[in-house]
Amino acid sequence: MIPRKKTRQISLGGVRIGGKAPVVVQSMTTTNPRDVDATMGEITRMQRAGCELVRVAVPDKEAIKGVREIIRLASLPVIADIHFDHRLALLALEAGVHGLRINPGTIRTRDRLREIIAEAKERGVPIRIGINAGSLEEGVMKRFGHPTPEAMVESALDCITLCEDIGHQALKVSLKASDVLTTIEAYRLFAQRSDYSVHLGVTEAGPPFSGVIKSAVGLGILLAEGIGDTIRVSLTGDPVLEVRAAYGILRALGIRERGIDLISCPTCGRCEVDIIPLVEEVQERLEHIEAPLTVAVMGCVVNGPGEAREADIGIAGGKGVGLLFKKGEVIEKVKEGAWVQRLVEEVEAMAD
Ligand code: SF4
Repeated sequence: MIPRKKTRQISLGGVRIGGKAPVVVQSMTTTNPRDVDATMGEITRMQRAGCELVRVAVPDKEAIKGVREIIRLASLPVIADIHFDHRLALLALEAGVHGLRINPGTIRTRDRLREIIAEAKERGVPIRIGINAGSLEEGVMKRFGHPTPEAMVESALDCITLCEDIGHQALKVSLKASDVLTTIEAYRLFAQRSDYSVHLGVTEAGPPFSGVIKSAVGLGILLAEGIGDTIRVSLTGDPVLEVRAAYGILRALGIRERGIDLISCPTCGRCEVDIIPLVEEVQERLEHIEAPLTVAVMGCVVNGPGEAREADIGIAGGKGVGLLFKKGEVIEKVKEGAWVQRLVEEVEAMAD
């Protein structure tokens, strides 16, 4: 078990973040909230994959009506992501958002920041101070010259001081850069200097393949050091993949378990079954399972029976027929066409 750094706990729409709370998984919709149906469709799929907090962009005034409706319909807390126009933050608060994400670098003036913070305090809404290396405040950039980890931390601490002056302490902080090493260094520095909870992410990480790698390395290193209270994997792709990747990272470190840990062989010349589509189908059909179960899909007798035996449920494929294992015991010989169906039935029964 990795010891976590002690942070202050906040509650965002009933979800606890920081302190002894489990690391929370969040993601962001890709739709304009004006399109309530499309946004809700995405939120439902994200929630099904295990998303616990959802962030929506509020690009303009017209989006507010949709945000209000989304808050009413969604059964998980909604965070409004605000840039540039501080009035959007005030409108989002008025619409009832559970959390606010602001970037001091894009809100620009102290007065406007103050206005947002005071209103959020009044309504008891937590704020994420979302520092981004690509949009650091002018003053900080002048002082440091470049968006260094030190500059990012300084910007976060400045904004914390502003919040504290107003009496708002329901805060979490993110320090994102698209460069993994800068991100890691910024979070490490911040963790040395503050006990506010942190939201981890590598920003603009990229398309799914490279984005997951960057996030797994960046977030994984920090989480292994006990840093991080909530995480988002940013990908140019379906947010459901972000949620899946987040749980994958947490599971790999033994921090949280949710859903199926699918063990499958990488396939090789010895393989007697077409394993790749088989594994894809199993993954898709078990996506709704929340119980932390290990499922093995193996292609031959070398490691197949061994892995399948160690898993909660497993199938060790062979020519035309496979062995179905449950908790180490062979429970059935299954004909090739029925493998997925039998595996899914057994997993669903065990999850129940
Ligand atoms: S389990 Fe068998 S088929 Fe799969 S990679 Fe190993 S040796 Fe190859």
